[in-house]
Amino acid sequence: MNEYAEYKNILIQKTIKNLEKNFFDVIFLKDKLEVLSYLKELIPSDAVIGYGGSRSLEEVGFFEHFAKENYPNLLDRRAEGLTQDQKRALQISALSSDFFLCSVNALSMDGDLVFIDKWGNRNAAMTFGPKNRIVVVGKNKIEKTLPEAISRAQNVAAVLNNIRFNTKNPCSVQGACVNCSSAERLCCVTTIISRCAPSKSIKVVIVDENFGF
Ligand code: SF4
Repeated sequence: MNEYAEYKNILIQKTIKNLEKNFFDVIFLKDKLEVLSYLKELIPSDAVIGYGGSRSLEEVGFFEHFAKENYPNLLDRRAEGLTQDQKRALQISALSSDFFLCSVNALSMDGDLVFIDKWGNRNAAMTFGPKNRIVVVGKNKIEKTLPEAISRAQNVAAVLNNIRFNTKNPCSVQGACVNCSSAERLCCVTTIISRCAPSKSIKVVIVDENFGF
């Protein structure tokens, strides 16, 4: 192991310890393939499954395997041809799903999860409702402190999301958040989960790879 990898490993282990101290259920996996195997084993085929928009879930292959053919009760808001009202109805149903999956925008070494959304559907599901909540997180999203994690969520994750959705917001050009007042602003709701209640109801799946944003 080189020095940088060893340093990163120390940060990961400390993050895991603090998340556990904060009552999260933590699973540490080697790579994205292990994540998909873990999810397949954990989630029964008849479960009601909701999800938040997530590049990390895309990258682990979640949407390929967790499709309607295999999971008939999947609340699939990515399905083609849905109206805005139908999408909204699925997002509301996701608040009482058996399993809700997404990623975080950042994770602090002190054991906090940080989410920034436009509509807040992911924030709502992660704070109350679904029986099991699962976040899949690449090690690149770990920051040392909560302020640094919030800064990552604002200045890295939110900016990349703006680039992804090809918005005209200033961060897409400047490469950092300027706390804009744009009508198209993607960052309207910030949620920090610093303790998990009920205990262990949120599984934090940390992966020893860099992916998602
Ligand atoms: S608040 Fe505005 S400038 Fe900042 S990241 Fe969000 S959309 Fe971009």
